[in-house]
Amino acid sequence: MRTWNGILTAVLLGALFGGSLSAAAQQTAGSQRPAPDAAHTAQPSQGAAMSQSAPTQAAQPAPAQQPAAEPVPATPAPTTMDQVVSLFIEHEHAFIKMLSNRTPVVETYLQNLTSDPQLGPVPNADHYFLGRMDMGETVDRKDYLKKEEEKGFQTRLLGGFEKLYKVQYQPLGFSWMVYADRTDFDREHYDFTYVRREFLGEVRCLAFDVKPKKNSGPGRFLGRIWVEDQNFNIVRLNGTYYPAPRNSMFFHMDSWRLNLIPGYWVPAYIYSEEGDFSAGAKNKQAFKAQTRVWGYDLKKGGKDDELTQIRVDSVKDDSPSQQDASPLQAERVWQQQAEDNVVERLTSAGLLAPEGDVDRILQTVVNNIEVTNNIDLPRPVRTRVLLTAPLETFSVGNTIVISRGLVDVLPDEASLAAVLAHELAHIVLGHNLGSQYAFNDRMLFSDDATYQNLGFKHIPEEEQAADKKAVELLKNSPYGQKLDNVGLFLKALQARAPQLSALLTTHLGNPLAQNGTVTRLSALSTLGPALDNNKLDQIAALPLGGRVKINPWDDKAEMVKTTPVAITSARDKMPFEVTPFFPRLTRYGANAAPAAPTTTAANSNGGN
Ligand SMILES: [Zn+2]
Repeated sequence: MRTWNGILTAVLLGALFGGSLSAAAQQTAGSQRPAPDAAHTAQPSQGAAMSQSAPTQAAQPAPAQQPAAEPVPATPAPTTMDQVVSLFIEHEHAFIKMLSNRTPVVETYLQNLTSDPQLGPVPNADHYFLGRMDMGETVDRKDYLKKEEEKGFQTRLLGGFEKLYKVQYQPLGFSWMVYADRTDFDREHYDFTYVRREFLGEVRCLAFDVKPKKNSGPGRFLGRIWVEDQNFNIVRLNGTYYPAPRNSMFFHMDSWRLNLIPGYWVPAYIYSEEGDFSAGAKNKQAFKAQTRVWGYDLKKGGKDDELTQIRVDSVKDDSPSQQDASPLQAERVWQQQAEDNVVERLTSAGLLAPEGDVDRILQTVVNNIEVTNNIDLPRPVRTRVLLTAPLETFSVGNTIVISRGLVDVLPDEASLAAVLAHELAHIVLGHNLGSQYAFNDRMLFSDDATYQNLGFKHIPEEEQAADKKAVELLKNSPYGQKLDNVGLFLKALQARAPQLSALLTTHLGNPLAQNGTVTRLSALSTLGPALDNNKLDQIAALPLGGRVKINPWDDKAEMVKTTPVAITSARDKMPFEVTPFFPRLTRYGANAAPAAPTTTAANSNGGN
């Protein structure tokens, strides 16, 4: 079990985050509590948990946009396990139909692994995919990444990885396991065997082993599914596909769904891992990968509807006075128009989280820097979270954007302040980019062409000036005494940078590193102690996925709440690495109204 040391909270953080962005609040491990299978009951209990209580919505504000789906039919209480199987098959078909007009964003970040004597499996290369997935007839992907990048990627992979690349890139790749079987999930093709009852987070589930019947064709699901015991929806799939066609392979995957809308559990996380580093193992080619799905509520981003879906703020009077704008005012209004256009366009493309909880934390940090430096800007600085993994920041107008992946890996508030200070410096220095986006025709492109149409990269001179100014701002700020931590983070980033080129490839802003060398804030990189894997209390950078949680339905970002757990070896540190997912499953609206009967059932079921 990978764990984190609770001591770090006190050491690394000020009171500001209130634990919400602590190094200790890192891993989800420990929050997962599968209940022991107490009774091996052949049938699920017909008690409270089995009655079809409608999804609780009490005291929970309804989501801004309800899915355009027919209401879930009332589920007659099953009396046999056979009926349970019929119910989840039926619900899976209804679910596939419900999602068939959706085109969520799907992101896969993959790290190839090599064995390090001290650290165990460590990344030696990485790959990144981002696209929209059409949940219609086939589960297919449309890519956001530029063609040149793709080409470079392919070229790099020709030395032996080509096959792997091709497999990943098929629709049968990482995003395939949103469903067990899109077309033939039924008794004609599968045998279902009840295994046991088990809790996944707060949700009591029935686990079934699923095996394809003989001669049911290649690529059938083989593994286990977990079905929640109120409405009998699949909430987790774990396994692979079988048999594989000649000359190809299917990955093993662990796929999780979340109850984000009443009655449905939508695919959110898929973890994949292959490879064996044990003595004598032949297959030394190994990787681990995280696939995240979000943006289910986005409008289709295809070429067909691009012109109707984009709301263009062409006539917006934001000038502060009743008089005509002075030339300077006009310039500022113009820049704000560009900024608003970009923020709105990135949000509608499923790349930017709507304003939310994480922004309050980011804005507090920015504010701390501003106040102590007597910075008084004509408009307040806003922040937004880019929903993607690659480590990047950029600014447009007065909006600072920071990627989810970067917030995830930063070890403490001072490091967060440092990366934000660089963008604040651009704003303070008037390095305004993006005023061309005040012309609305420039917002008219299909979502998957976002990276070709938008960009916020500064020239090297402005980058250097921003770094210099950022250090100045930081030294005057409450973070001035903690810049050693920033230095340590930059050293950790440098240590991994040559292997993590995909994670460091930015798509909109300037990269933190170039050709394997970290360039951002290099003046701070010599500060702090030397990087030392053996020092268990030295946490220079965190794994991905520990801080920011995205709601896959509405794209809202929030801070992850986890219980501190102890690091016990250097292998627990996993800086910049991907790890398995273990989301704490809850029912829709459950947080608003804790369900007493469920708790009782949990206890009686032998939950410790
Ligand atoms: Zn910059």
